[in-house]
Amino acid sequence: MLKNIWEWFLWFTGVTDAGWSAWWGGFFSCLPLFGVFAVVWRRLKCHAPGCHQIGLHRTADGLYVLCRKHHPDVPNNLTLKHIQKSHVNAKAKKDK
Ligand SMILES: [Zn+2]
Repeated sequence: MLKNIWEWFLWFTGVTDAGWSAWWGGFFSCLPLFGVFAVVWRRLKCHAPGCHQIGLHRTADGLYVLCRKHHPDVPNNLTLKHIQKSHVNAKAKKDK
């Protein structure tokens, strides 16, 4: 089983067909790129446990990022009325 996975990995990375130069020039050279994707994904992902949606809404304390579904201030069915109300509230808070 483990040998099959290793052989599949070698085939997947191109080592079986083109030798180890394919490893260094191909898959290995892309590893930093995968790392960048992982960091960006961790920054953008909703912080609610088990949720894998993109989170664009910050919590009031600014510590967490949540998706539309999990953020307490964003309703499930977003309407123009809610957006306008939120705008008026923010403006009133700013003017104080
Ligand atoms: Zn979420």
